[in-house]
Amino acid sequence: MPEVIRYENPGIQIFIKSGHQFLDKVRSFLATAVRENKIQQERARDYFREILHIILFYGQINLPKVEPEEILQESNRQLSARYPDIFEMCRTHIPKRPPFTVLLDAIVDIVRTRHEDDVLQCLLLEINDMEVPNGNTLCRNIFVSTVINLCYFSDQCMKSRTPNYFGASVSCRGARQRKIMIDTLCCYTWHRDISWAVCVANQYNQDAFRFPPRVHSMAFNIFTNGQSTQANQRVENLLAGFRDQQVPRFLQIARDLRQFGSLVPRAPCERCFEMFPNIQFYPFPQAHEHAHWEYGNCAECESLSQLLKSHEQIVTRLHRNQFQIGRDRLINAKNRRLEQNLQLLEFRFRDVVQFEGNQL
Ligand SMILES: [Zn+2]
Repeated sequence: MPEVIRYENPGIQIFIKSGHQFLDKVRSFLATAVRENKIQQERARDYFREILHIILFYGQINLPKVEPEEILQESNRQLSARYPDIFEMCRTHIPKRPPFTVLLDAIVDIVRTRHEDDVLQCLLLEINDMEVPNGNTLCRNIFVSTVINLCYFSDQCMKSRTPNYFGASVSCRGARQRKIMIDTLCCYTWHRDISWAVCVANQYNQDAFRFPPRVHSMAFNIFTNGQSTQANQRVENLLAGFRDQQVPRFLQIARDLRQFGSLVPRAPCERCFEMFPNIQFYPFPQAHEHAHWEYGNCAECESLSQLLKSHEQIVTRLHRNQFQIGRDRLINAKNRRLEQNLQLLEFRFRDVVQFEGNQL
């Protein structure tokens, strides 16, 4: 593509500005945390390397490709000297998860608690002004997810509940690129039962298993600064519905965090409800939002995968349905689609990148 057209292409401009801003924000967030002794330098470095790799990788599967030098721009050139392996790997290795999920993981690590108030407050402060100029207006940074959710399991017999596990929707530009990310998550990242649930739903439009009772999930739309009036109004409207009653927890969270940013409670989409029908969702869907996205796109898969990876006793209590087609065949099909899509975008796939750290 000739240079002039390339730089007038608003899609590429937004990609470059978003990537640059996301890396910049994450770097200063992690640097502050290291200075304040909230995280060890090596660990912070791993988080940054992982996010750097993912964003540069996204550049490589963009159409047209966006090169690392373009994303990092002049001032960041020294990064390529400091992370030469990442600049190589972004052309041959695929990441295991989207950048926002890594940021969420780093936040949980840094705030040292899984309590929703602390994690969500820290997250909102971090992403509040992640908007990029687009002509005369601002638009959302394309690497910031639109939905975040948390889940936990409360066991009545044990009178205890697990900590919260957090997930974010897949933030990725382009239909083919999004499929690449979902297939990667299914094949390489998620707990095997969650991958299976996504494959089964794709194949049969059915649920692969039932969770034991009392798995809870709540989700929020993340509104940008520019949408805060609209977000406030939505929360006010929801609060008005509970005037004489106890305000439910998901709405208290949205209300109390308003000073830090805008979260608006949202019910699960029809796909998640189909995959996980017996989860206690907050808010409970009045009518199902029509999902024009694929199974596996939503925040729920990531957080439920973490819940299962951390609590084997929940895995042993899953009630699995029987299907004619076996797991291997469905996962292989996902793998094939992944490789085909990478090939179509002229990505020379060699391996999946592994970073150290506490990855669930
Ligand atoms: Zn969904």
